[in-house]
Amino acid sequence: MLRIGLTGGIGSGKSTVCTIFRELGVPVIDSDEIARELVVPGSVALQQITARFGPQVLRNDGSLDRQRMRDLVFDDPDKRQQLEAILHPLIRQEMERQIARLHAPYLILAIPLLLEKGWQQQLDRVLVIDCNEELQRQRATRRDGSPAHTIDRIIASQIERNTRLAAADDCIDNSGSLASLRTQVEMLHHHYLMLGKRNGPPSPQKTL
Ligand code: ATP
Repeated sequence: MLRIGLTGGIGSGKSTVCTIFRELGVPVIDSDEIARELVVPGSVALQQITARFGPQVLRNDGSLDRQRMRDLVFDDPDKRQQLEAILHPLIRQEMERQIARLHAPYLILAIPLLLEKGWQQQLDRVLVIDCNEELQRQRATRRDGSPAHTIDRIIASQIERNTRLAAADDCIDNSGSLASLRTQVEMLHHHYLMLGKRNGPPSPQKTL
C-alpha cells in the first residue's frame, strides 16, 4: 500500500483535505487523533505523562489538560523531548496497527509535524498543503478564536514554508476557494490510485 504523508503548517487546510480524501473513500490515519486517544484517563500514556510532569497537567475530571501540556513544553525543548519520548513510539505503533488492517491502493497518514519529526523516510511520498502565512493566520484565528500573536508563535515554531515545500513530492495550493481545493484533491486521488496500483504489494521493510 502506498503511504502518503500529509503535512502543512497550522491552518493550512490539512483537516479539510483529509475530509475530502475520506469522502473519496481513501483511508486516512491522523496522528493527532491517535495522540488524543492515547491519553484518555486510565491509559498507560497518561500515567507516564502524569508521573513525569505531575498532576498539574490534569483537569479535575482526570483527563489531560492539553492546553496546559502544550504551554508547558512550548518553550522548553527538554520537556518537549520527554513528552515526545512517551508519545511518539506509541503513536507509531498504533499507526502501524491501523495500517496492517487496511486494504487499499493507497492511504493518507496525516502528520502535522511530519518534517519536524523526520518521519518522511518511512513514507512513499510527502504531500504538503500550502498557503501563505497571512491566510494561515486568518483561517486559524477565525476557526479557533485565538489572537493572531498566538498563531504567529505557532507558525514560528514550525518548519519554514520554503523548507517544507522543498521536501514535498506533491503540493496542494490552498490559497484559493474550497472548490479549487477539492479539484486538486480529486486530481491527486487519481494520480495516487495509479501509483498505488503500480506500487504492488506492501513492502515488509517499511515501518514507521
Ligand atoms: P491545524 O493545523 O490548526 O489543525 P489545518 O491545517 O487542519 O489546521 P483546517 O482546519 O483544515 O486546517 O483549515 C483551517 C480553517 O480554514 C478551517 O476553518 C477551514 O474550514 C478553513 N479553510 C480551509 N481551506 C479553506 C479554503 N480554501 N477557503 C476557505 N476556508 C478554508
